[in-house]
Amino acid sequence: MTPPSIPLTAKPFDQQVVSFCAGCGCACGYVLYKKEGLVIDLYGHPADPKGMGSLCSKGMTYIQEVSKNPLRLLGAYLNDGEPKKISEAEALSLAKEKLRGKIALILDRHLSSLEDYLLARSVGDVFVDAPVLDFKPSTVFFNRWQEYKLVIAWEAEPVFSEVMSMRYIVDGVEKGSHLVCITSRFSTVCSKAKTKLLMNPFEQIRFMKKLTEPEHDDPVVAGLKKKLYLLGGLILIGTSLLSSPLRGGVLKALTDLRKHFELDYSFVGDLMPFSAMELKDFVERVQEYDAFILFGNPLVYLPEEVRQVIKGRFSIHFTLFPNLTSHYSTLVMGCSNFTERDFIAYRNSFGKVYHCPQSAQRPEGAVVPYQFLSKVFGLEVDTKDYVSLSAEGLDLELPPIQERDFEEQGLSKGLVVYTDNGLVDELGHWNPWTHQMEKHQKAYMSEKTAERLKVKDRLVLLDREFDVQITPNIADGVVFIPSSFEEFQPFDPGHSVGTFCRNPFHRYEVMV
Ligand code: SF4
Repeated sequence: MTPPSIPLTAKPFDQQVVSFCAGCGCACGYVLYKKEGLVIDLYGHPADPKGMGSLCSKGMTYIQEVSKNPLRLLGAYLNDGEPKKISEAEALSLAKEKLRGKIALILDRHLSSLEDYLLARSVGDVFVDAPVLDFKPSTVFFNRWQEYKLVIAWEAEPVFSEVMSMRYIVDGVEKGSHLVCITSRFSTVCSKAKTKLLMNPFEQIRFMKKLTEPEHDDPVVAGLKKKLYLLGGLILIGTSLLSSPLRGGVLKALTDLRKHFELDYSFVGDLMPFSAMELKDFVERVQEYDAFILFGNPLVYLPEEVRQVIKGRFSIHFTLFPNLTSHYSTLVMGCSNFTERDFIAYRNSFGKVYHCPQSAQRPEGAVVPYQFLSKVFGLEVDTKDYVSLSAEGLDLELPPIQERDFEEQGLSKGLVVYTDNGLVDELGHWNPWTHQMEKHQKAYMSEKTAERLKVKDRLVLLDREFDVQITPNIADGVVFIPSSFEEFQPFDPGHSVGTFCRNPFHRYEVMV
């Protein structure tokens, strides 16, 4: 994209740079104005057909705030008791010496570029803190969501993940689209819906199954079925449902719906479209590895015993802030943000690869993980075949679903703890103005659920205590706890999911 012909800022500047935000799968185009190397203003690029001149608060935080955040970790630290600052050269020689044997790498969404993924595949086993899909994650790109007469949002809340895509749902509704929300928590997307159904995840799957069954007497199902026959439509599914024991049931329901109706689909949220293993596999295999390379903050989703295994061996952690994962890692490396290097974003549910050119100056001490690891392993990778995917998107068909649904698995049904992002994601809690939007970690539940649990204002899960917020916006049988808090955050720290869930790598688990 070329810079706008007329500057968008009224402030004096000496450089205007254009790039794409890697904050989520929307990859909004932006224009950054700089003076003497410093960022002085930021705008969405008006010519970008996705963001159309807008940026969300998450994108603004990542692009504008991270570079000047005083809590940012810069430089290399050796964590053997008291963290000790070491030079990058010392870090490199330590990494060369200790990264031996079998290596596991856990990649994240915002710090691992495509080169990191390709390099990771060459040097060890790759894991990600997101569901891995081996089929087409969306049959339609999000800027066409407005064209459908009927849209079903199933546990999908774009505002909490793929923020800008929400505008295309709003545009569709303004043009007369019928939006149906089936969800365990009422959120922004539901405020636009004509039909809102608050259900726990077990009821959601049952409801979806009924849509493809021949006869039933549920008037809501009958009405929606009629609309689906007449209008076809689009189903949006939250990716968190795939990080759960419900995954098989969800994929079966989607396959059946597509057999019965003219239905496009899009998964909404963080998702890994290339080959990798999930955190559940990592927990099962952790003992096999001699060393670990960690990006972001994956240890919040791992139980304490797994964290301790990592702590007892050699690990390198690439991070923007000294978060929980840093406290269990041997070598902690302050890392460059996606704006501070050429970044290729690929972790999204729209099957796209985005090249985001460097737009901001890299602060001293911020390492580029690929450059560092490339020196450690003496390897370089070629991204060209993958970048060409950006034009077409991934093209894989929805395969026959092998996974068993929850009934076939004989899973117990009961009260569900649902952990996911709320309004603010994990990085947002390191910035005061975004942290203010959602200051405290609470357990949200309906009055009926609180009665069932016999709780009034406090809930205890595996010895961790939460303030209870009673709300009619959460389905009966569900306790929602935001997953974006952890023990080492600077403002109002909370509990990491790994400390209060038995299966923290899943976003849903049945309470026992
Ligand atoms: S919607 Fe996504 S890509 Fe766009 S500004 Fe927000 S975080 Fe960045």
